[in-house]
Amino acid sequence: MYIDLHMHTTASDGAWTRSELLDLLAKYNITTFAVTDHDTTQNSQPMISEAEARGMHCIPGVEISTLYDREYHITCYGIDFEHSGLQSILSYNREERSTLNRETVRQLSEQDARINFDQYESYTYDPIRGGWKSLNFLIDQGVIQDIPGYFACSQHLTMCAECLPPEIVIQTVKDAGGIPFLAHPNVYQGGELMSRDHLMQWRDFGIAGIECYSPSVNDLSETNYYIDFCKQNNLLISGGSDYHGPFLDRPLGNPLITRDMLDLGGLV
Ligand SMILES: [Zn+2]
Ligand SMILES: [Zn+2]
Repeated sequence: MYIDLHMHTTASDGAWTRSELLDLLAKYNITTFAVTDHDTTQNSQPMISEAEARGMHCIPGVEISTLYDREYHITCYGIDFEHSGLQSILSYNREERSTLNRETVRQLSEQDARINFDQYESYTYDPIRGGWKSLNFLIDQGVIQDIPGYFACSQHLTMCAECLPPEIVIQTVKDAGGIPFLAHPNVYQGGELMSRDHLMQWRDFGIAGIECYSPSVNDLSETNYYIDFCKQNNLLISGGSDYHGPFLDRPLGNPLITRDMLDLGGLV
């Protein structure tokens, strides 16, 4: 009986539908989980009853983007899906993401004759491919082949989604009855550990905990570094695989987590 509190579906950039994901979770014996799609609760909400019908426990979840010195991600649990302030932030972030996608393609089209921006607005793709609109569009236009290709061709544009600041996101999550965690902590420093000062900054922003168990964290000593920080600073401990399906080379059930490894503050 395992627990995994970080995964994506076709509602954001994951490649699995809800029923496919439930089949896979059952196969991996992951009986407690949360769907944490980027800035949408479209699949997290119906998953609660669908999991219950199969004897599994799905915790209300979402992963919210926030902008500080770069983009960070907050995994949130136990939220009230109907909270209007929370849904406003999610819809704001989706619009910002959509603008970033559009602007990326527009600017690249000015530099690369193969890219036809006029086709972008009406472009659609099958969400079971995973990924996001500009990624799939550029693949279908024959400009890139994969995600590394996407970042290689767009990094010089130095644009980012203008998401809301951490204090606002974190407070709104709490207002919505949720518990906000700093997700995949090694992602923000190119795979390196976050410094204690950096973590302290997030504690001061009001984060309730850190995703100490994550494929972004390189080994057990790094996991223990984050756990020690949480224990010393009265923060909770979460974990998850950040699973996206075959779209990303990041397997479900890694790291393998049992309930006793986490401190979720009475969430489950
Ligand atoms: Zn993330
Ligand atoms: Zn994620």
